[in-house]
Amino acid sequence: MTTIDPVENLATLIRCPSVTPAEGGALAALEAMLVPLGFAVQRVAMSAPGTPDIENLYARIGTEGPHLMFAGHTDVVPVGDAAAWTHDPFAAEIADGQMYGRGAVDMKGAIACFAAAALGHMADRGWIDKGGLRRGSLSFLITGDEEGPGINGTPKVLEWMRARGEAPDACLVGEPTSSKAVGDEVKIGRRGSVTVRIIVHGRQGHAAYGHLAENPIPKLARMIDRLSSTPLDAGTPRFQPSSVEATVVTVPNSAGNVIPASARAVLSVRYNDLHTRPAIEAWVRDKCEAVARELEARFDLAFAGTHEVFVTEPGPLAAAVSSAVEKVTGRTPALTTNGGASDASFIRGLCPVIELGLRNATAHQVDERVPVADLLTLTAIYRQLIEAYLG
Ligand SMILES: [Zn+2]
Repeated sequence: MTTIDPVENLATLIRCPSVTPAEGGALAALEAMLVPLGFAVQRVAMSAPGTPDIENLYARIGTEGPHLMFAGHTDVVPVGDAAAWTHDPFAAEIADGQMYGRGAVDMKGAIACFAAAALGHMADRGWIDKGGLRRGSLSFLITGDEEGPGINGTPKVLEWMRARGEAPDACLVGEPTSSKAVGDEVKIGRRGSVTVRIIVHGRQGHAAYGHLAENPIPKLARMIDRLSSTPLDAGTPRFQPSSVEATVVTVPNSAGNVIPASARAVLSVRYNDLHTRPAIEAWVRDKCEAVARELEARFDLAFAGTHEVFVTEPGPLAAAVSSAVEKVTGRTPALTTNGGASDASFIRGLCPVIELGLRNATAHQVDERVPVADLLTLTAIYRQLIEAYLG
């Protein structure tokens, strides 16, 4: 059951061990919260060859516009070193005014707050016993595959929604965007993200007879250096500079006197609104080909990642979110585009999207936790937004 208390809702969700791709009971728990409020809840299962089957959820109340959708995920990252946690990561214990648990801020907390805010909005008007919402529509798009490959999650649910004519007017994503205080940062865009895999091919041989072999390691090293040390840009008014970070280097070799046959690297490129995905791929290829000509390298490149750069230019949605934050906290939020990729980049194709959630300080960490006071603040902000948006 949903309660008007986000803390209780969050405890219910944290106690479901929904580490991607496991549903863990989290979507069932959310369904049990939303049905009594009058939401029509649909569980949307998706699968694809070579990827885990994923459960998602779409719930809507109301049939008319304006239609405000809340989007997020109930899946969580693994707990890591379980013994290092001060409190059981799936027990939702409260100590010193903070609730501990995996997903507390990323992002079961925001789901718990939005459910509480929706209930509060309807209960205040005496609508709960009269079938729920009487003006506009509210919906939830909740995936179980945001922290994983993301293939059977939000992008597929959006296709499913399109096929059914579900077209929200605006979307709020509940990722933990806040920094020092709840509502201090609202994301209006995100950089795009591409993963680059490079394999440089060589010829195995004796380290003492290098001229009879072909060592791929110096060639790969120069490619990594070239990609890492050539600036893509200096940033734009809305975005920080694009960046290239080498994250993995591997050589299938354990013998110190053997030149290996190949060397591999993975790089993570984050690009801003000066670039497109094809242009980034062409830039990477160009840099690698230049090195290949200098050092006579043979290489293969592969690109992965589906998050495109996007920005929602400030308009009615950003104004409504800013004003909700101001009413509750007295602070004007900064509209930023920093941080990692999120599902907002998929939703952008459907409707204007903005992100506002809890503070991200402990996301993905051991002892992930959220102050109870933050849950109350975020619920109040969401409630203001619902009231302003639905009128
Ligand atoms: Zn998240």
